Amino acid sequence: MAHAPAPTANNDGPVVLRESKENPGVRTVQVVRPEEEDASYITATIKGLGITVSHFAKNLAKVATGRRSSSMVETINYPEETIPYPKRNRGLHRLMQRDDGNVRCVACMCCPTVCPADCITIIPAETDDAGIEKYPARFEIDELRCVVCGLCVEACPCDAIRMDTGMHALPSETRAGGIMTKEKMLELGAPSTAVQGGSGPSWKDE
Ligand code: SF4
Ligand code: SF4
Repeated sequence: MAHAPAPTANNDGPVVLRESKENPGVRTVQVVRPEEEDASYITATIKGLGITVSHFAKNLAKVATGRRSSSMVETINYPEETIPYPKRNRGLHRLMQRDDGNVRCVACMCCPTVCPADCITIIPAETDDAGIEKYPARFEIDELRCVVCGLCVEACPCDAIRMDTGMHALPSETRAGGIMTKEKMLELGAPSTAVQGGSGPSWKDE
């Protein structure tokens, strides 16, 4: 149950109007409204234009005098050119293969279970190999719904799915165009044989 102490303020945070007895972390706070001059979009627009013009003038002066430096705001011809991505960048999904070239996924359903966007569809089927039991007859990811969280990669118990392609989801005019099929993901991964037994190259080590 909540109780209502007198409003309190401290220098480190907002004014606390009410605090839950059972859960001290749950509080009702007073929202601080911006000052009138900060609330006006005209002031913000002028400030933004000022920053843009100052960057432009700074860059122009450096280019004119031949003094290029790392503090310059540079532009690139995207998408023909891209900036180097960090090593842990999550790109389009790819599916790994077994030593024999078959898909490494065993259709355990861990990744669709953990996926917060509910965008992984797997239809499992039985294999003749008693040691493997199942494989994904169909494995699709709706990249238009994917939030690129990487949880599917983390959840996979056998390193069957990775997001280290360095590629973005391709633009598409239809929803179907945003679906990555098993075949496309295997193609993207080739050659993508992961060493059996959990050892060998892993995106986590790179
Ligand atoms: S990256 Fe996240 S949202 Fe995308 S398929 Fe994997 S678990 Fe789902
Ligand atoms: S977690 Fe790995 S093995 Fe399990 S269904 Fe997903 S990709 Fe396949």
